[in-house]
Amino acid sequence: MTFGLDNLPYGVFSRPGERPRVGVRFEDRVLDLAPALHDEVFAAPSLNPFLARGRTAWRGARELIQEKLSSSRSLVEPHLIPLEQVTLHMPFEVADYVDFYCSLEHASNLGRMFRPDSEPLLPNWRHLPVGYHGRAGTVVVSGTPIRRPHGQLRAGVFGPSAKLDIEAELGFVVGVPTELGSPAGDFEEHVFGVTLVNDWSARDIQAWEYQPLGPFLGKSFATSISPWITPLEALPRIPGRAQDPAPLPYLERKADWGLDISVVVQLNGQVISRPPYSAMYWTPDQMLAHMTVNGASLRTGDLFASGTISGPEPGERGSLIELTWNGAEPIKLTDGSVRTFLEDGDVVTISATAGGISLGEVSGKIV
Ligand code: MN
Repeated sequence: MTFGLDNLPYGVFSRPGERPRVGVRFEDRVLDLAPALHDEVFAAPSLNPFLARGRTAWRGARELIQEKLSSSRSLVEPHLIPLEQVTLHMPFEVADYVDFYCSLEHASNLGRMFRPDSEPLLPNWRHLPVGYHGRAGTVVVSGTPIRRPHGQLRAGVFGPSAKLDIEAELGFVVGVPTELGSPAGDFEEHVFGVTLVNDWSARDIQAWEYQPLGPFLGKSFATSISPWITPLEALPRIPGRAQDPAPLPYLERKADWGLDISVVVQLNGQVISRPPYSAMYWTPDQMLAHMTVNGASLRTGDLFASGTISGPEPGERGSLIELTWNGAEPIKLTDGSVRTFLEDGDVVTISATAGGISLGEVSGKIV
């Protein structure tokens, strides 16, 4: 069962004429949590008040929901609403948004493209998880149409991006704020769960603007996330990938936070890539430790994303620019058309599974 008792992701939903509130997905229904658990924290139109409660409360709620859905099902039956009756909303208010660059294969592929005359990896890459601050205010929920951005494409040229791309990523949702640094070992104390992310990217705007301060308008127009936030408890964990050189002490892993998640990228309903999250180089506990080591604090609702997930095989790349670059064929669609980058009307859907559970999907149509 992909949305069974071992999954139970959280989201925000409403029926027509009702106020948005927090629910948990169970099979093809949503459990209306405020009346089911008699807890007004779930009557809020976002997960943030629940996220702020912390790990003990998160575990307690999950156990209570599992208990109610199994041994006392008849009591909560009136609060199970069929999915087709509900609209799904942004599941939480994004406080700040950081995007990392944690895939060795993705960083190497992009290095070869953007800097063909030098080493693919910059000297810092194996020493720290590289990241940048994104735009929290333009993180949108799956299903939100994505308007093709305009911008400077090269010197003296302004217009609509002709190189609109995707980045298939995993996002981590912060519940409990951090103060004065948070070592890798504190990951479980602060991070509630995960969501799928599509970091839409205009490669022409990006290539012209990014030096020396990094991504800016080529990324900030929109970032899509899935409507369901999967708790860490539901995810199968594996050892992180071997790292050379050994990271500095503040980045030392204290537990296994590699994640065995299989991602599928579809373009207009056709599978174009299957990126494996298990291949990621930097693990999310290391991302958390790095982004707080300077004393920067995190707030409830902060979102940090992994960076594009790309595996070593050609069919495992999480962006179009990698899938179609350097002699690779353009992507052939079943309607006979081909793609190097996205065209208006294209729909991109990223879904994922972890063991027997589904992480749902994040979808967006280019307009
Ligand atoms: Mn990205």
